Amino acid sequence: MASKSGDETGAWMTAAPGQPLTPGRAKLKALGPMDVELEVIACGLCHSDLHLVNDDWGISEYPLVPGHEVVGRIVAAGKDVGDLAVGQRVGVGWLCGACLDCRSCNAGEDNLCGEPNRTCVANVGGFASRIRVDSRFSHPIPRGLGDLQAAPLLCAGVTVYSPLKRLLPRTGRDVGVVGIGGLGHLAVQYASRMGHRVTAIVRGPGREKDARNLGAQFYLDNTDGGQTAAAEAAFDLLLVTASADLDWSVYMRLLKPNGTLCLVGMPAATITVETDNFVGEQKILTGSSIGSREMTREMLDYSAANEVYPWVVQMPMDQVNEALKILADGEARYRIVLTA
Ligand SMILES: [Zn+2]
Ligand SMILES: [Zn+2]
Repeated sequence: MASKSGDETGAWMTAAPGQPLTPGRAKLKALGPMDVELEVIACGLCHSDLHLVNDDWGISEYPLVPGHEVVGRIVAAGKDVGDLAVGQRVGVGWLCGACLDCRSCNAGEDNLCGEPNRTCVANVGGFASRIRVDSRFSHPIPRGLGDLQAAPLLCAGVTVYSPLKRLLPRTGRDVGVVGIGGLGHLAVQYASRMGHRVTAIVRGPGREKDARNLGAQFYLDNTDGGQTAAAEAAFDLLLVTASADLDWSVYMRLLKPNGTLCLVGMPAATITVETDNFVGEQKILTGSSIGSREMTREMLDYSAANEVYPWVVQMPMDQVNEALKILADGEARYRIVLTA
């Protein structure tokens, strides 16, 4: 057990919405019997961190220590932790706990738990020197993944891996990835490794070279009406990673009959599509929320085995405010990882 004097940690935090992060001391929760304490090695920067800093969702609690793509080394373990050991390298994503006793949790869908424990809401997130989390939400990092490579997978990676696995049980399908950013650049890699034909659908022509290097066979500039019209009824799945509101009628038309449009971000509070998509063509409009613990561990192993690596920009933790600005400006290519 950590000593009482160890119940605080250095952290980058903010006291109020929209303020820059400043270095300070954060209070760690007591180390419970199933908890582990991690020394943070690296932490990815996700759009959700920006939303939390600005309290866009009304769930932020201050002082706020963001960061939920955490790679760390276990420095202490509660007495009932069985499968992880001090010294082991693990990762923590958006969730650091769940009730583990509701219908969703019992079905292995703990990502849908109604009582989620979020890593950086009312907890000290990964922009700290140390964190304490439920060991059951701390995932061993395979040897094939470096610290910088592993961090973005813990939120961005599983967020796109999970719907591709769940929604496309068969290989050789036509997948459109809408938006090539932190999420999309991983979605293109997973979808192509899984044996699908992948089209990157992007605003403007500027990311074509990157998209093809990531594994996209086709590139669709959605500001070109001709290209968009030519892609009608072309896709089995459209995975929307873009955060901009889109003309959803146009995107529903890009689906084949029985095709699925899946949102992994929240591009708008409300979207409107014509009902003939559903009755006449049996199309599906759905969403996906991160991934279960089981899916997260599968995704980490899959990424190591299939060499799916995020494209990472490393920055020191004391440049976190500069990093947040780069992210807000949409300039990250494609994931910033902050290191201690
Ligand atoms: Zn995230
Ligand atoms: Zn639950």
